[in-house]
Amino acid sequence: MAQLEIQQIPVLSDNYVYLVREADSGAVAVVDPAVSKPVLEAAKQLGWTITHILNTHHHPDHVGGNLEIKKATGCRIIGPAPDEARIPGIDEAVNEGDIVKLGEAEAEIFFVPGHTRGHIAFWFPESQALFCGDTLFALGCGRLFEGSPAQMWDSLRKLRELPDTAAVYCAHEYTQNNARFALSIEPDNSQLQERARQIDSLRKDGKPTVPSHLGEEKATNPFLRADDPALATALNLQGRSAQECFAEVRRRKDVF
Ligand code: ZN
Ligand code: FE
Repeated sequence: MAQLEIQQIPVLSDNYVYLVREADSGAVAVVDPAVSKPVLEAAKQLGWTITHILNTHHHPDHVGGNLEIKKATGCRIIGPAPDEARIPGIDEAVNEGDIVKLGEAEAEIFFVPGHTRGHIAFWFPESQALFCGDTLFALGCGRLFEGSPAQMWDSLRKLRELPDTAAVYCAHEYTQNNARFALSIEPDNSQLQERARQIDSLRKDGKPTVPSHLGEEKATNPFLRADDPALATALNLQGRSAQECFAEVRRRKDVF
């Protein structure tokens, strides 16, 4: 079994870059390198040689380190086919259902538009690791820069099909603010209150709240619960469609 070792590198104000190593082959991928220097330094410290870059979408805080890391390591850059023209240095463009190999490990590609029109996610089933960029966050979801609420809801429902045990490696530490927002919709949700307490205590100790597990996201993330009647009630949208509820949650978050 091809096990992954995963290192989390906090960069910029709230981004997470991931170094992912497949031990049998020694292949090492960087997921969404916002910048190059801290990533190259971290790899050097670990004694890891970067062989791949995996990009979820074209935003500068996800591809900013691409060209310098490629120049330093000669690594292969894999990114979304629908956004090929916006991924610096891309070597391999992938689509929904494609399989990406990292040494002995395999990732399935999900097409998850909404935040951007070409956003993809990388799912490593053997390691139960989901790299979802700015689509799904701990207790949140990405802003809709290039997509509609209906599109984002479809994308999130796709990710929601994955097992509860999936670790959600999202690209930003937004969780504490997301928790405050979620509680503004459902102040009496006791599961959410408990999770918010855990998040506050992790952040107080300067610890990351990412990765979370998909099971807790399914239970407490309002953006994954747009078809939950309890959420519709909290929004005062009883009986309305999941898309309408999702759009309302997203609208409120945009002005929170
Ligand atoms: Zn983004
Ligand atoms: Fe981002």
